[in-house]
Parts: sequence; structure tokens; C-alpha cells
Amino acid sequence: MITLAKITKSFGRNQVLQGIDLTVNKGEVVAILGPSGSGKTTLLRCVNYLEKPNDGVITIDDFSVDCKRATKKEIHQLRQKTAMVFQQYNLFRHKTALENVMEGLVVVKKLPKEEARQRSIELLEKVGLRSKLDSYPSQLSGGQQQRVGIARALALNPEVILFDEPTSALDPELVGEVLSVIRKIAKEGITMIIVTHEMTFAQDVASHVVFMDEGVIVEEGKPGELFNQPKEERTKQFLRRIR
Ligand code: ADP
Repeated sequence: MITLAKITKSFGRNQVLQGIDLTVNKGEVVAILGPSGSGKTTLLRCVNYLEKPNDGVITIDDFSVDCKRATKKEIHQLRQKTAMVFQQYNLFRHKTALENVMEGLVVVKKLPKEEARQRSIELLEKVGLRSKLDSYPSQLSGGQQQRVGIARALALNPEVILFDEPTSALDPELVGEVLSVIRKIAKEGITMIIVTHEMTFAQDVASHVVFMDEGVIVEEGKPGELFNQPKEERTKQFLRRIR
């Protein structure tokens, strides 16, 4: 289980997260929705300390980090429990698909090279890229690069995978292949938090939907409830705008 308690974050005088409380149960897929600039990406980045929260407590299983007094060691331990899939894939340009997936296994997990290789091949097969092991990112489409990014996240065997708008950099015809890989791994019971603009996807894949606006969680609930019977005026307005 993951718990965020009273997470705040400011950039200068701009308070972007105004005290976020969120609980994510094991195996749950949480979609975070909301207008641009509402703090969704910042919240996601706070979970693994890519952004340092100003205050609050992050708990993953029985491990807690009090953000005001987190040590380097605690931050490192927290990061080991998470993996991130980025909008822009963030692959190593000079490494092949296979080497990109192996990297975390060898460097972070300290697996012997051959074992890391076998595991990486299996994961690339899972995301439909068995035939692209030796391709460099520049030889892959955006959708394929993002699938390498997903395989790389899976390799770390994290408690939670954080997806930051994983399809927003893709040409429309490539969105489907990435969403179907995410759907597939969601079915395996991996805990995921996904910031997304893909409403239909959020509606069928998420077990829980969170609507954020101006640095607060305005409303959250099951997709059926939030999409069909939103309670808050701000949620209603947002849904009207995007439909
Ligand atoms: P969303 O993901 O909902 O679009 P973001 O979390 O990206 O929102 O951004 C929320 C606010 O924080 C915006 O006003 C944005 O300009 C600001 N912000 C995000 N990252 C930074 C940063 N590194 N430095 C300064 N301001 C930032």
C-alpha cells in the first residue's frame, strides 16, 4: 500500500501542491486527471523524489519518509521501490533496447549480466519487442521506445510504476499500442499511478480515479462514479470541457 500524507510542494512562491492525501492499495491502478497545470506531474514526481516535497510523509508498504527530514539513504530506498515511465521515454540514446532494459538490472539490482540479459529479453517480449532487442532508440518509433521504457520499469520489479502522461508525446496512431501494453500489465496486478489525458483509457483501466485542480484533490472515486456522477462542480466542468 502507498500513502501520501499532506504532501506540499512550492516552486518559489507558486504553491503547486497544497497538501495532498492519497492512498493507493496494492494492485490498484490509479488514474490522475485534471487540467493542465493542476500539479499532476509534480505529484507523481514527488512520489519518487524526482521533486523534493516541502512537507508531508510518503509511505510505501512499511517504509516511510518524512519529507522534511529525509536522509539520502531514505530517498535512495524510496526510489528503489518505484519506477517511472516518462513522457519523453528518457532512454539512453547510445544503448540498444536490450541494453536499456538491462541497465537497471545490472547497475541497480546487481544481477549477473547473463541473468539480466535473459530477464530483459523476456520483458521485451512481453511488450512485443522481441525482434527489436538490438535496435537503438533512433531506429524505433515513439510507441516502440515507450514500450522499451515500460519494459525497463518492469525490470526493476518496483512496488509501484509511475506513468507520467505516457502517450502524450506520441503520434495518434501509436497511442493504442502503448495503452494496450499498459492494459496488459495492469491485469497482472502491478500497482500503477498514471497521469493521463486519455479519458476512455482511464475509464476502463483504472480502478480508482483522482481529479486534481489547483494543487488539491477535488474528488476521487471509482471510474463509474467519477465519470458518470461527479459530485463537485469543478469536476463536472472539467468533464464537460473534455467530452
Ligand atoms: P500538470 O501535470 O497538472 O500539468 P505540473 O505538475 O506539470 O501540472 O505543473 C504544476 C505547476 O507547477 C505549473 O504552474 C508549473 O508551471 C509549475 N512547475 C512545474 N514544474 C516546475 C519547475 N521545475 N519549476 C517551476 N515551476 C514548475
